[in-house]
Amino acid sequence: MVLSGVSGVGYAWGMSIPPHMSPDEFRRLGHFLIDWIADYHAGLKARAVQSFGPPGTVLAAMPQRLAEEAGTAGTWEEMLAFVDGTVTNNLLHWQSPRFFGYFPCNASFPAILGEIVSAGLNVNGMLWATSPAATEVEMRCTDWMADLIGLPGEFTFENPGANGLGGGCIAGTASESTLVSLLAARGRMRESGCDVHAMTVYASRHAHSSIVKAAMVAGLADGPDDRRRVRLIECDDAHRMDADALGRAIRADMVAGLVPGWVCATIGTTSSESVDSLVEIARVLPEGVWLHVDAAFTGAALVCEEHRWMIEGVERADSVCFNPHKWLLTNFDCDCFWTRDRASLVRALSVLPDYLRNSATDAGAVVDYRDWQIPLGRRFRALKLMFVLRHYGREGLRAHVRAHIAAAAWLEQQVRASGRFEMASPRVTSLVCLCCAEGDDATRRVMEAINASGKVFVSHTMLPDGSGRERFVMRVAIGGTATRLEHVKELWALMCECAR
Ligand code: PLP
Repeated sequence: MVLSGVSGVGYAWGMSIPPHMSPDEFRRLGHFLIDWIADYHAGLKARAVQSFGPPGTVLAAMPQRLAEEAGTAGTWEEMLAFVDGTVTNNLLHWQSPRFFGYFPCNASFPAILGEIVSAGLNVNGMLWATSPAATEVEMRCTDWMADLIGLPGEFTFENPGANGLGGGCIAGTASESTLVSLLAARGRMRESGCDVHAMTVYASRHAHSSIVKAAMVAGLADGPDDRRRVRLIECDDAHRMDADALGRAIRADMVAGLVPGWVCATIGTTSSESVDSLVEIARVLPEGVWLHVDAAFTGAALVCEEHRWMIEGVERADSVCFNPHKWLLTNFDCDCFWTRDRASLVRALSVLPDYLRNSATDAGAVVDYRDWQIPLGRRFRALKLMFVLRHYGREGLRAHVRAHIAAAAWLEQQVRASGRFEMASPRVTSLVCLCCAEGDDATRRVMEAINASGKVFVSHTMLPDGSGRERFVMRVAIGGTATRLEHVKELWALMCECAR
């Protein structure tokens, strides 16, 4: 990386004036960095997916103390060389086409441009009045997205149904949406005269850890193992919540004088992508219990009609979320959250001090997104989502998802046909969970060998087999922006080689 002619920080002023970068210098560096980002992405094909030094490597490459004077802590040439060298040499390259770990964290050039514009404007959209465009672009984009994934109109601002209380927002993460949904449920319980101190919450034992964390933050659990108010429900052989067991747990709690208040169904669990049945859950749910749907990763597949079976029964849900930042081409962070009862949400989270009062809020004529989240301030995330939605269009987004699902189906076929590997869980969309027929040690050995090669990256989980024994399982999550069938074929060839 060569950057020529940049004059450091241009520190020619007196000490009393901060050495701001001039617009011209910003333009030059900005153009340079856009080129650098494009080159980084283009170079990922040839780069090891992960290669880091031992802990402390990056710390050792930075001065322990920040210098007093601007420019002495590093010229721009030095800082960019640090990014190009030390930083990129100590990363797990999530945008590599051969990254198959965890769930993907999609980036796309339209979304990166959206992030740049958002940073350039740097408005705080906490209230409608503090930047109407930030609020209204977000309202429109969440309505578009609701329509795109087949949510009922009751979750939108445009067609909010009889009660007129639907709508969506963009949160940072699914974990935040889970927490605000739980708080809204608790608020609604309180308003209906229930004892919120007796509130109980439910999710499957395969639900994401953020459910238990939300319960801890909301004061319903003292720690991750406190089950006095949190029930993790048993699952069937395909790792889906057992709705009858949920019904039994709810009834037992009611008999014990507790008040069931919130259930989280998962559409695409983290370990295996299993899908809880909303229809079955609705069957056992007493009226008034808030049903939240966490579709963090798998929600992206709903852009294709053939996958909408996964949200059959969503009419009963009170809130839904999924992360376009996982598999729908929108840079981190972007979690879409919808509710059909924004009144309960806003009442649970609204505190209005004098300094935030304004005529639009007082008139009740606007959406103030600060009331939909824990912090006050909020980023203009909707721009990157709008760029993605308009750039790719409905068909482009469907093509993105379908190509990955086809590649996952190909991998599943290979696994099923091989004597060496077996599927550890049914495939739903693009996550393939597999293990070595020989057992856990062999699976672990293969995973460590393929990851050590630097050519691919996969992660693992533990899943019960048919007899209930927990097995060590490799998770191959196919969903990277640049990931194609050819990369999955490379992964499979490497797995077979390492299993020999
Ligand atoms: N829910 C599910 C099903 C997930 O798989 C994940 C993360 O992978 C989360 C929630 C948490 O996502 P976030 O990092 O957006 O909070």
